[in-house]
Amino acid sequence: MAVKRKIIKERVPTPERPVEERIHDFKEVNLGYTFELAVKEAERCLQCPYDYAPCIKGCPVHINIPGFISKLVEYRDNPDKAVKEALNVIWACNSLPATTGRVCPQEDQCEKNCVMGKVGDKVNIGKLERFVADYAREHGIDEELLFEIIPKIEKTGQKVAIVGAGPAGLTAAGELAKLGYDVTIYEALHEAGGVLMYGIPEFRLPKDIVEKEIDKLRKLGVKILTDHIVGKTVTMEELLEEYDAVFIGSGAGTPRLINAPGINLNGIYTANEFLTRVNLMKAYKFPEYDTPVKVGKKVIVIGAGNTGMDAARSARRFGAEVTIAYRRGEEDVSAREEEVAHAKEEGVKFEYFINPVEFIGDENGNLKAVKFEKMKALDERDARGKRKIVGTGEYVTLEADTVIIAIGKHPNRLIINTPGLKVERGKIVVDENLMTSIPGVFAGGDAIRGEATVILAMGDGRRAAKAIHEYLTKKREGQKANA
Ligand code: FAD
Ligand code: SF4
Ligand code: SF4
Repeated sequence: MAVKRKIIKERVPTPERPVEERIHDFKEVNLGYTFELAVKEAERCLQCPYDYAPCIKGCPVHINIPGFISKLVEYRDNPDKAVKEALNVIWACNSLPATTGRVCPQEDQCEKNCVMGKVGDKVNIGKLERFVADYAREHGIDEELLFEIIPKIEKTGQKVAIVGAGPAGLTAAGELAKLGYDVTIYEALHEAGGVLMYGIPEFRLPKDIVEKEIDKLRKLGVKILTDHIVGKTVTMEELLEEYDAVFIGSGAGTPRLINAPGINLNGIYTANEFLTRVNLMKAYKFPEYDTPVKVGKKVIVIGAGNTGMDAARSARRFGAEVTIAYRRGEEDVSAREEEVAHAKEEGVKFEYFINPVEFIGDENGNLKAVKFEKMKALDERDARGKRKIVGTGEYVTLEADTVIIAIGKHPNRLIINTPGLKVERGKIVVDENLMTSIPGVFAGGDAIRGEATVILAMGDGRRAAKAIHEYLTKKREGQKANA
């Protein structure tokens, strides 16, 4: 007989650090659930059947969401068991839940069509996922589960190279290691993690969490070679001689620029450079760390995606007055809802329907203002469903000594120039199995999609691992038959 559930309309909130405190440091803003709060929130889930549950359909990697949530309630008297069971369900589809629980745009994915939304607040799936991962890490439960998996791995004797240690490459590496492959990641930077390390700031995703997720891969036997640039330190041909297959997860790290007079003035950064200095080089701890970053008094961030929001909130933490300038309206802001709310709470201002046309400098070549054309939206929509915008011929000038450009990124160039690799509009072309035009070379994540999301990159990593496994199993069987 079906259990009758009591409807609890209101979401259990997660504690957050007060604005006046957090604005002065880079420590995490949201503090997450305790076990007691997580159970209270888990009780709100109506446990929709697996085949129907809209949350599972909305999650790009199809985690059994009611399945993991139910474990928290079922074993509420034994937190360690509850979390171990829940993590086991999550890990079947997602190996980086501490990350995705923090950075997925849940409002557009798993939480979008949660049925609780019809009567009250949607279930806080992201924060529950984050809780399970955090509790498991803090209590050694994830290691326990990992050490149950490791002895069951049967080695295949085949080797796979991965290009790039972002979410796509890390996920492919983990899945392939579990399938028995000898996996080596080649990473261009001095630290693994991709955007998780160099792009997303500490106050949203603490770096020690990413490092611990990467440590788990090392325990699975994955080798990570940092400061190794494929296309420079080692070529694709050399990789193909040494390895049985290659996965490219090189991301989209080449920033788009604005073609306007004055773009080379002092004080203009790309968000990529600014955030890399802040996150990877720890510029916010200068002079303890030796890379400085110069942030002026008046900062304009151009672009209102996650990158723009991260740049704006980082600049606020350096004490600047910060304005986000966006050429469209508020309805088209693409950053996660939580980040926009946090940015507003932290005093970031928003100016909509303005597009930069000129950067104005002083006699020393330093930026002092930005001239914008005012824009207006038409009723007609573009291919992405956004209202088309046009210039009005009217202009406005805003003072600024620093500009951070966050208008998107292209896939990394070096890999794209690999001989024989088919590329269209800057993105690597793949077939339905994520194989590129070079046999045995697969690709996924931002390198094939352009700038997308962490979970889509991870989903590609999993799919590619499965396809590589099938490809290499056939290769092994072929070799046996010919022996
Ligand atoms: P990346 O994370 O870019 O990793 C690629 C890796 O490959 C990098 O480490 C790079 O150094 C390495 N590499 C490149 N070329 C080579 C080479 N030739 N040889 C060796 N290594 C190479 N998504 C969300 O879902 N939620 C968010 O909140 C969010 N916020 C974001 C904030 C910022 C500031 C940015 C920039 C992006 C954000 N995104 C967010 C997008 C998300 O981070 C990306 O979609 C995701 O990281 C893509 O993963 P990837 O593995 O394909 O590439
Ligand atoms: Fe939601 Fe992302 Fe977790 Fe899927 S991986 S359940 S979309 S938070
Ligand atoms: Fe629970 Fe909402 Fe998913 Fe239904 S849709 S199972 S209520 S999280």
